[in-house]
Amino acid sequence: MGGVVFKEPMQRERLEVDVLIVGAGPAGLTAAHVLKTRLGGETAAGLPRVLVLEKGAELGGQVLSGAVVDVSRFPAAWGDEAAWGDLLRPVIRESVWLLTSRSAYRLPWIPKALRNRECRLTSLGRLTAWMGERCEEVGVDIATGFSGAELLWDGDRVVGVRVGDFGVARDGRPRDDFQPGPEIRAAVTLLAEGVRGTLAQQAIERCGLMTGKSYGTYGAGLKELWRPGIPVEPGEVIHTLGYPFSASAFGGAFYYTLAPDLVSLGVVVEIDSRRPVLDVHALLQRWKEHPFVRRRLTGGTLLKYGARALPESGWKASPRPWGEGFLILGDSAAFLDASRLKGIHLAVESGRLGAEVILDAWRAGDLSEERLQSYEDRLNQSPLFQPLRGVEALKGRWMRGLVRCILPDSTAGRASARREKDERSAASGGEGMAEAACGLTQDRTTSVGFAGIVYREDQPSHISISDPDVCRRRCRVEFGNPCRWFCPGGVFHVAVRSEGSVQVELEPGNCLHCKICEVTDPYGVVRWRPPEGGSGPRWLSM
Ligand SMILES: Cc1cc2nc3c(=O)[nH]c(=O)nc-3n(C[C@H](O)[C@H](O)[C@H](O)COP(=O)(O)OP(=O)(O)OC[C@H]3O[C@@H](n4cnc5c(N)ncnc54)[C@H](O)[C@@H]3O)c2cc1C
Ligand code: SF4
Repeated sequence: MGGVVFKEPMQRERLEVDVLIVGAGPAGLTAAHVLKTRLGGETAAGLPRVLVLEKGAELGGQVLSGAVVDVSRFPAAWGDEAAWGDLLRPVIRESVWLLTSRSAYRLPWIPKALRNRECRLTSLGRLTAWMGERCEEVGVDIATGFSGAELLWDGDRVVGVRVGDFGVARDGRPRDDFQPGPEIRAAVTLLAEGVRGTLAQQAIERCGLMTGKSYGTYGAGLKELWRPGIPVEPGEVIHTLGYPFSASAFGGAFYYTLAPDLVSLGVVVEIDSRRPVLDVHALLQRWKEHPFVRRRLTGGTLLKYGARALPESGWKASPRPWGEGFLILGDSAAFLDASRLKGIHLAVESGRLGAEVILDAWRAGDLSEERLQSYEDRLNQSPLFQPLRGVEALKGRWMRGLVRCILPDSTAGRASARREKDERSAASGGEGMAEAACGLTQDRTTSVGFAGIVYREDQPSHISISDPDVCRRRCRVEFGNPCRWFCPGGVFHVAVRSEGSVQVELEPGNCLHCKICEVTDPYGVVRWRPPEGGSGPRWLSM
């Protein structure tokens, strides 16, 4: 993808704020709220000017989660629960089930990692929209529909962000409605873009923030919202393991009743560029066809579909979360407790701690790197972040520890031997499953229709392949171009030419912004960056 083609030097608007936050998820909005309210509810006068950039067209439109939330530390940032109304519902019943291909067995106990009685059920989209409204009430500026495209540097110091341009044509030329994205300068920039944040990755690479860290591991999470055929009792949390996952392709599934007419469900499975043929969309369809799930969904209606990668490796593979002029929050810093499938509380807590560090530095009139460094100390001292240390050591990604403790070693071994066969059949299982749009299972194209994607087709593709020859020659032979399977949006198509050569064609308007491609691409040739602001999924209540 080329840059913008201009005849004359471009004039960009320049704005200045004190704190710039990229990403209006729970991490970024919590930081913004704490910066303006200072915990004690003091007046906002004299506090930093705070601007939040969000690439989605509206607040809560591009976040996706289960979600069962650990709210133990929420009051420190957001006030007590009474203020939350029906956004947070208590968990009233929970169970864990082991599925075989036809049967389901309820575990007589709930493994510790999956106990949720103290947690609350919510829709992250709605929660985020609520957080955004509270932020605006206390004087935070939020700009939705603006993608952070590039970090601005002064030597090794981050001094702000260049926002993506609007109105660039597919060939890179400015259209009549072209508007250059402004440059926003800030004393401190908080990177809260969620998993594999584009700007966070720029900072990680330029500042060597992964030095001494290990290779990051990820999961892929696919989620759907359903209106059940018959009303359900809200507050039920069900987790399943076993079918259709194998003991080597670790994964599990969730089914949460959010309201009498709303169910959240999905699968989470490990992904790895060394094993790129896994088709998570097909796994989700298979799981829904299991009698245990089928009877819960029959007669119901699919409402929404989406996907997201999850950072699963804990501290050892999380970047140093600070540098000159910036902090990294939430999933962008890999703050996810994978053994519990929970990251919202860590996003909120990292936002709160990051904001407190900035406020201290602000009061002292010293925003130097040495000051910002204390963010990492505070994270280290927080009991909430302790489990992240165990995650890598125990390889405790969601369900992994659980599978190990339930399945005897010999069973795990047999399952492991079946892995290749499972993967091959999973890889081919997704297509050809289409039923009516509101049937139990969908093909990929139909699923994507439930993501509410808005996308101006005449814009440069935000997904690019740096070396198409790798796809044609190496990948074709070694993996059979698995991009057509691992992408839950169906963005990659493999066209076979008459002379037998292949070409990978892209359909960026299908993109779910999940970043699974960046993680799973075996050769590191797929590049994702934010499209024009306001493009992409419009989930709202995911
Ligand atoms: C299927 C699934 C189920 C999950 N279930 C649970 C659960 O039950 N409980 C739990 O606690 N956690 C769960 N998680 C994890 C949880 O959702 C995340 O840890 C949490 O959302 C991270 O918050 P965040 O603010 O760091 O990032 P996000 O929630 O991802 O928010 C990032 C925001 O930044 C915006 N953004 C990104 N890049 C840019 C850019 N360059 N410019 C402008 N805006 C940008 C995005 O559009 C988004 O709005 C689940 C995750 C998945 C995928
Ligand atoms: S192209 Fe888009 S939908 Fe497909 S894997 Fe990448 S981010 Fe997800």
